[in-house]
Amino acid sequence: MKIDAIDALIVDVPTRRPIQMSMTTVHQQSYVIVRVFAEGLVGVGEGGSVGGPVWSAECAETIKTIVEQYLAPHLVGTDAFNLSAALQTMARAVTGNASAKAALEMALLDLKARALGVSISELLGGRLRNSIPIAWTLASGDTKRDIDAAIEMIEKRRHNNFKIKLGFRSPADDLIHMEALSKELGSRASLRVDVNMAWDEQVASTYIPELEALGVDLIEQPVARENTRALRRLSENNRVAIMADESLSTLTSAFDLARDRSVDVFSLKLCNMGGVTATQKVAAVAEASGIASYGGTMLDSTIGTSAALQLYSTIPSLPYGCELLGPFVLADTISQEPLEIRDFELQVPTGIGHGMTLDEEKVRRYARIN
Ligand SMILES: [Mg+2]
Repeated sequence: MKIDAIDALIVDVPTRRPIQMSMTTVHQQSYVIVRVFAEGLVGVGEGGSVGGPVWSAECAETIKTIVEQYLAPHLVGTDAFNLSAALQTMARAVTGNASAKAALEMALLDLKARALGVSISELLGGRLRNSIPIAWTLASGDTKRDIDAAIEMIEKRRHNNFKIKLGFRSPADDLIHMEALSKELGSRASLRVDVNMAWDEQVASTYIPELEALGVDLIEQPVARENTRALRRLSENNRVAIMADESLSTLTSAFDLARDRSVDVFSLKLCNMGGVTATQKVAAVAEASGIASYGGTMLDSTIGTSAALQLYSTIPSLPYGCELLGPFVLADTISQEPLEIRDFELQVPTGIGHGMTLDEEKVRRYARIN
């Protein structure tokens, strides 16, 4: 089966509420929808980055350009079923640009799975679970609003683990915020924090024990991405689990973190690692070194989220579940099928491919015309 054509378009989908992080506040998410056409079939992939190039070096505009101008010309006319060859071709044609490669690989996997009439998880060996516990992010910037949102989620049986974004306030104010959350929610929920690199080692050394004392279960990326030695010391000196997010991208970065046992948990992200295959390898490095895997997200829409679910459903150890909440922070759905949370767990889609079909009318509505 030969690849006939590849296209990429940007969609800008509004979020339900602002998402405040240490480096930016997100009001809409931009995705690049990549379609691979082969002999009458279409595979759909998605790339993106939270808040444009502020989190990673990529953004929707670069992803679209790299896919259309630097990757697609090498792949059109080649065998749509030979994923190994496609990955090698992409690696040779373009340095880095993990999200662009991930979007294209996702579309190729979706196409192949559809052609074979199976799901992507079946292509990957088969799923070990049909649902995954899903965290909700509390990032309104207001303590009372965060507590009310969390209580509502617990009562609706949607979420009972919460990720709190720290770093846009002073560490002392963050601690006051966390004390209030722990007091109101601590007995009913798991609390995790994401510092998004906002602290230095000294501040992290001071505040991580305080957070641990409040019952926080997981500390995500407390210090700068390059400062992996500080991560190692913080992991060694604290019992609470430390998770790498920004520090983790390539397979080499995973190996380096694992060799030095710099963290306790890896946050997996297809867009950050360069696709399903690359993320599978990172998860294998984690497994080999006794590091836990965590189902991370780049606030993907239903397309990217479903592809991630297909992979995460096959990973043996996922003790902290996932945070694939992208579809639920968006004000609209760009696929015909929704994703469902039941009893605190996100359900893995059951259809073929990644399980989602693009809603063409919605894609037209949110497509960026330029
Ligand atoms: Mg993070």
